[in-house]
Amino acid sequence: MHQIQLHNTLSGKVEPFAPLRPGHVGMYTCGPTVYDYAHIGNYRTFVFQDILRRFLKLRGLKLNHVMNLTDVDDRIIANAAAAGVGIREYTEKFVQAFFADCRTLSIESPEHWIRATDHIDDMVVLIRKLQENTYTYASEGSIYYRITKFRDYGKLSKVDLSGIQAGARVDNDRYEKESARDFALWKAPKPGEHFWETPIGVGRPGWHIECSAMAMKYLGETLDIHTGGIDLAFPHHENEIAQSEAATGKQFVRYWLHAEHLLVEGEKMSKSLGNFFTLRDLFAKGYKPSALRFALASVPYRRQLNFTFDGLQQATSSVERLRNFTARLKNEKFPAGNQPGMAERVKNAADEFDAGLSDDLNTAQALAAVFDFVREANTVMDKGEFRQGDVAAAAEFLGNFDKVFAVLEDNDGEKLKVIGFGGGDAGLGDAEIEKLVAERQAARARRDFAASDRVRKELLDRGIILEDTKDGKVRWKRK
Ligand code: AMP
Ligand code: ZN
Repeated sequence: MHQIQLHNTLSGKVEPFAPLRPGHVGMYTCGPTVYDYAHIGNYRTFVFQDILRRFLKLRGLKLNHVMNLTDVDDRIIANAAAAGVGIREYTEKFVQAFFADCRTLSIESPEHWIRATDHIDDMVVLIRKLQENTYTYASEGSIYYRITKFRDYGKLSKVDLSGIQAGARVDNDRYEKESARDFALWKAPKPGEHFWETPIGVGRPGWHIECSAMAMKYLGETLDIHTGGIDLAFPHHENEIAQSEAATGKQFVRYWLHAEHLLVEGEKMSKSLGNFFTLRDLFAKGYKPSALRFALASVPYRRQLNFTFDGLQQATSSVERLRNFTARLKNEKFPAGNQPGMAERVKNAADEFDAGLSDDLNTAQALAAVFDFVREANTVMDKGEFRQGDVAAAAEFLGNFDKVFAVLEDNDGEKLKVIGFGGGDAGLGDAEIEKLVAERQAARARRDFAASDRVRKELLDRGIILEDTKDGKVRWKRK
């Protein structure tokens, strides 16, 4: 087995990974902000974390993995107020949708799923500690962190502190990223906003303090690994370090891992570009959960992932090829004995697979090892030269592959039911067709003909023909 190496944003280098306590890994992941359905970019990051935890487990490490749900922040408060409901009521639907999405994508449950709103007391204790250590100041009922007092500020993101204005404050959870500013640990309530009554005053926590308090509560003062998408490195993770280390005087996190973003057809995913997808959007178009998981996992996490429908189609065939080979291995009857050299081939493939994942989770290299092996073994089988005595080793190799990639089980229909789809290949329902037709109309209205043609083609591929009527409306029928 190879030494596990991980890229640490803190050092900017790939480093050998060794947990603080041999055999045990404490890991924290910033979970979703549950103000809406998560999109496939978010799942790129969550699938990366799942591949990481599964690989560490395959290598015999025992994991204590904590993922939080950010169920209080500016956007949640605003949306809940607009909907006229409490924040618990507002977020519950998206929390449940997130859990269902994770099951659908075979993302394992971490050892602890926790909600920010269940840990307000822990956040208050941490803020009091920061007050005692004189890292804070109060202003108009809010409490701010004074970043000039923390000498190491900027060590993670290498943000430029030269333009910093002493005392410049920011109250938003997510602010413009061009400059570092004192951030709110605790915010005074605005009229109509949800608030808590606590020993440090009435109000609510800032976003950054949530993660520091929860991570240290479950994992102790020093964590082995902390993960998130690259956009969280600054200011969120920088602020987490500032808060935690100013409170404890100890190193907060030993390895910081950040996933690069997912782009769609080379562009940033956004609602206005019409290229913004949730899982539900893709499954409504007939794609399978296993194909999406494969597509998200196949690009190493530190490379941007350019999501395309072609890529998703290729992922569908890749999963198919692996499942066919697994079925062949299981169902065909081969002559007794061993094929000369086959044991060696399996061993080399397994070694290359481990080498890939050990090298900062190079999933592309690991998958190449699997596909090379499958191609060779299929050829040997086609020639009638594969032997029964080699089945067990080949199956074990694929089994280990699947402990990490989790795509071999033919259960897409069941997975789809988890998130309320009929499942299987039953074709598009009327509502799904109407939705795509509306999407195409919207694309035409903004004169994005490439997008509208794409939807038309997609519908055609799925047996639906569109007819544009004279009065500018659209009729559709099944082929
Ligand atoms: P949020 O719900 O906004 O806090 O984001 C949840 C996770 O998704 C965070 O780790 C983000 O960094 C990550 N994320 C957001 N957008 C993208 C994207 N386009 N590609 C990959 N990860 C993303
Ligand atoms: Zn966080």
